[in-house]
Amino acid sequence: MAIQSVGVVGAGQMGNGIAHVFALAGYDVLMTDISQDALDRALSLIDRNIERQVSRGKVSAEDKAAAMARIATTLKLSDLGRTDLVIEAATERETVKQAIFEDLLPHLRPDTILTSNTSSISITRLASRTDRPEKFMGFHFMNPVPVMQLVELIRGIATDEGTYKALHEVVEKLGKTAASAEDFPAFIVNRILMPMINEAVYTLYEGVGNVKSIDESMKLGANHPMGPLELADFIGLDTCLAIMNVLHDGLADTKYRPCPLLTKYVEAGWLGRKTGRGFYDYRGETPVPTR
Ligand code: NAD
Repeated sequence: MAIQSVGVVGAGQMGNGIAHVFALAGYDVLMTDISQDALDRALSLIDRNIERQVSRGKVSAEDKAAAMARIATTLKLSDLGRTDLVIEAATERETVKQAIFEDLLPHLRPDTILTSNTSSISITRLASRTDRPEKFMGFHFMNPVPVMQLVELIRGIATDEGTYKALHEVVEKLGKTAASAEDFPAFIVNRILMPMINEAVYTLYEGVGNVKSIDESMKLGANHPMGPLELADFIGLDTCLAIMNVLHDGLADTKYRPCPLLTKYVEAGWLGRKTGRGFYDYRGETPVPTR
């Protein structure tokens, strides 16, 4: 089956980026969220981000107009039942994701492929609660989606070859590169990246360095384009904590225990860029370290 229409659940940082790249690649996109505000914000953000590509000469004004016309939004999750491919990109909480798939099931066409953009949660477990574990896969885009080249493809234990091939083709059509990962907690990228970010928070917690010295050390000393704390703010501290918890619970190894300081920032609602404050305060003209 050729995939033509795509349903995106969750219009946050990842959902809007996913809608952006699919619309530019010629797919019809139907995006949903529990919040009308999130849908409105996502549409204006996509418009602004594609406009930036137009001003750099990477996308023509006609292609931008065509892409924007391909994106529709709805508050009704059930409307996504008619799409060929559903990409769930809602909050990183297993109960939230399970409830979304459960509510969607009665409205789905039999051949619709279901995917989750989860950063860490078991694909096999999410799939087992649906009526189509063989048509269920992990489809892990990186942030920011329009810029990052990689997409991790994660097969659950029951995923069939046809589903894998169909998604591999989609990744090629998007002009991105697929990497296959086995279905173990946090897959490849976050299994390696998140413990490094967590360790940077421990370094801050134990007073080995402050926000500025830790980020500068990793940028200038390890040639990372962003410091780990800056990157954590960019990803979202709630998402970072959720991934550490999945690693800790799923691999039962104390080396993955989330830093108490990370938990404290999340409890304060200082989730990084998306809430205006995290390891840096973004409310002024330039980001100011909060420690
Ligand atoms: P976000 O907080 O920016 O957005 C989540 C969105 O989901 C919000 O708009 C929220 O209103 C919506 N939502 C919550 N419950 C919903 C429901 N029941 N139905 C519909 N929408 C609902 O989060 P994000 O950073 O976009 O992350 C989304 C997913 O992508 C998570 O699974 C995360 O692990 C994954 N991911 C994140 C990154 C990253 O760097 N942030 C990278 C790769 C993958």
